[in-house]
Parts: sequence; C-alpha cells; structure tokens
Amino acid sequence: MTFHTLGLSLPLLNAIESMGYNEPTPIQAKAIPFIVKGTDVLAIAQTGTGKTAAFALPILEEFLQFPKRVKANAPRALILAPTRELAQQIFEAIEGFAQHTTIKSAVAYGGVSMVTQTKALEAGIDILVATPGRLMDHMRQKTVDLSALECLVLDEADRMLDMGFIKDIRAILRYCPAQKQSVLLSATMSAEIRGLARSMLHSPKVIEIAPNKDVALIEQTIYRVAQSRKRDLLRDLIVDNRWEQTLVFTRMKHAAARLAHHLEKDGFTVASIHGDKTQSARARALADFKAKKVQILVATDVAARGIDIEELPHVVNFELPANAEDYVHRIGRTGRAGQTGTAVSLMSAAEQPQLEAIETLIKKQLNVIEPEGYASEDEEFLIEEKKAAPAKKKPQERKPRREPRGMPFEPKEKSFARRSENRQRVKKSDIGFDYVLPEFDFDRRR
Ligand code: AMP
Repeated sequence: MTFHTLGLSLPLLNAIESMGYNEPTPIQAKAIPFIVKGTDVLAIAQTGTGKTAAFALPILEEFLQFPKRVKANAPRALILAPTRELAQQIFEAIEGFAQHTTIKSAVAYGGVSMVTQTKALEAGIDILVATPGRLMDHMRQKTVDLSALECLVLDEADRMLDMGFIKDIRAILRYCPAQKQSVLLSATMSAEIRGLARSMLHSPKVIEIAPNKDVALIEQTIYRVAQSRKRDLLRDLIVDNRWEQTLVFTRMKHAAARLAHHLEKDGFTVASIHGDKTQSARARALADFKAKKVQILVATDVAARGIDIEELPHVVNFELPANAEDYVHRIGRTGRAGQTGTAVSLMSAAEQPQLEAIETLIKKQLNVIEPEGYASEDEEFLIEEKKAAPAKKKPQERKPRREPRGMPFEPKEKSFARRSENRQRVKKSDIGFDYVLPEFDFDRRR
C-alpha cells in the first residue's frame, strides 16, 4: 500500500515525501480510509506508530477537498493532547503535512502567554491543537468558538484520564456540536477508555495496533542494584559504554531534578524536563537534547509522554515505572522506525513486583544482571559475612547481625534467581541468601 492508494491529494503527498515517509505505517493504512470517510474511530496505538499522521492526514485531506471558514476563531478540527510537549509536536507535524496548502493551524497550551495564541486564533484557523486546561481558558475568555467543529480528536486519551482531565474533557464536549466526527486514540484499552468511547463515539471503527510491536528491536536489560548505588551505576554505564544521547526516566519530578544535578556534578551535559520547570525551560531542554547540545535528558513520564526524538539509541529507567504500560512507552522512545536501541532499567529489590508486571504485559522474560560492586553497604556487609561463614551452616539458621533502625527484615523471594535460565547471576549466585535488607532511598528521607 502507498499513500497514493490511500487517496491523498498531491500537496499532501509531496509533503509526506519531503518528510521521508515512503509507505504508510499499519495505523495509517488502517485508520486513514475510515477517518477520511467521516467515520468515528477508536484507535489503540502507542506513540511511535505514526498515529499523528493517521489522524492529521485525513483531516487535512477533507479540508483540502472542502475548504471553508465560517468565523476566524472557530476551528473545524480540534485535537486535544495531554501535555504541552505532545501538543507542540502534533502542531509541528501538522504544519509539516500542510506546508503546500493554505490550511491554517494553531497550538494552545499553558505555561506561556495567551496573547500570542489569541492572535493566532483571531487570524483564522482550521485546526487547533490544545491541552484541555488552556483550551478551557480560551473558552472562558471567548477567544475560541467551538460551534463550527467538524472533527474532534482525543490523543493519548488514557494519559488524559490518568492526569485527571476527564472533567475538562466532558466540559469541552458539551460545547462541541453534537454532529461531528470523533477520533479517540489511546495506548491502552481500559474500562474507563471503553466508557469514554461509548459516550463520545458513534458506531466507531475499532483499530488496534499490537502493543509491543516496536519493542522487538530494543535490547532490554535490567540491572539489579541497590537504590543508593543507582547513580554510580548510571554514571559508569554511560562512561564505560560511551553512550552519547541518553534519555533517563525518573518517576518523580524532584528525583529528576536531583539526578540531573548529580550527573552535572559528574561532568555530563544534562537537561531535564519535569513539572517544576517552566514551559520555556522544558522546550529549551528538549530542543537542546534533540540538537545534541546536551548528552543526557532526565525526564518524568508525564513530561516526556509522546515526545518523539529521532535516532535515540539509549533509554534508561532510573526506576521501573509504577505502571507497566509506561515501561513500553518509555522504551519505545528508542528503536524507532526499524532502528535498534538499548533500554536499561535500574531495579532495586523493592521494584521486583513492577518487573513481574512488565514481563506479564510484554509477554517476555527480561535479562536481569546483578553487576559486581553495586550492592548497598548493608548488602555488601551481608555478602562478606556470608562468604566468611562456615560452609556447613544452613543459611536460614543465621540471622544478619546488623539491622537498620526501625526496619524489619523482609524475606527475599527465593524464586527470583531461578525464575529464568536467562538470568545472568554475576554476583551472589553461589551464596544462597535467604534475607536481604529492604531497599531504602536515603535521599527521599532528607
Ligand atoms: P507518532 O507515532 O505520530 O509520534 O510518529 C512517530 C515517528 O514516526 C515520527 O517521527 C514520524 O515522523 C514518523 N513517521 C510517521 N509515519 C511515518 C511513515 N509512514 N514513514 C516513516 N516515518 C513515519
């Protein structure tokens, strides 16, 4: 199948060609014929599958075929995205696809002045890309009018629900005309997504793109390491393997800021994107990383969701994500468009349940390595003690002498080491631990 056979007009075909797209991705081949006909669509697809073009191209095709403008600030298509970065990225993609047309688009998100956005709206637009909060601000100030809307797209709907946007979405829907086409894209299918789809889609075409398709080319490794030694291991991995562009994920914004600070002290060039940064600082960090001005970008899931970085060879999970699906999103940043990539996760003992959830989701057992020299001081103490102990002594009869104040010992899952033949036990394999200290993030307690 080619873009030509999908029935797209010459200005779009020329733009696609200049952007280097040779053939449609599966989501594009499946969704474009339906969206172009005006059918409602529910697409289960992740970022990296080419989903932006899958909804943007048919909308542009429709507007090329039937140009009209009712009112300056009344868009014909509205695309809602959960984060500013994703909204900006969608807007840029649309500008690229529409480069040989007169179709106008604008983007509206928080953290920057409303004035420029209002001016762009007043100048007359066909397509508006927005985050829900900022769109509501424009609706309140009557700087946008949704009465002429013909098509509504909700991108990364699952993330919008996770981020608590459901009330805003429902409020926005009330201001949209009942007669319109709706497209809902989500990386995952949950009961909540089904509920939202039922309430906003009419006889939708459901398209599902296999969830772990793009992770096949990614070499995934889990390093089992003490929480307190993660920073050292990360530094050594980057230096020893001569990693250049590396994207590091943390769960919390303060952890991202702290890690970026430490990596800078280690001599790396680092940028970070997280919720405590201003929008211009986030945009600058992303631009610097994309332009290879900085070697490492530290990001939280929320800030980095959906962002697309070409030729990104290394992704590091500084902590395993709480939500297994986020693992696929995070590592999907690398290994794009047939390229290979590496995804490394630093896992403390306390994160073992997250690993199991990830392995269940991706239906694959991951290679777990216990690198030499990165156990915590308490673990090292136990290892030394174990080595010194007489061989006959049964491990379960012994109790470790040291115990951190207020911290009970937890039984270690014996099955951990044996879960897979693939598990590479670099250390402790012949020691036969029965107990390890629970992991402790000393930084968090400060
Ligand atoms: P998306 O899932 O929309 O974020 O797209 C992920 C990446 O794939 C972006 O860098 C797109 O430019 C690229 N892309 C989308 N469609 C195609 C295609 N048909 N051929 C090559 N690259 C594509």
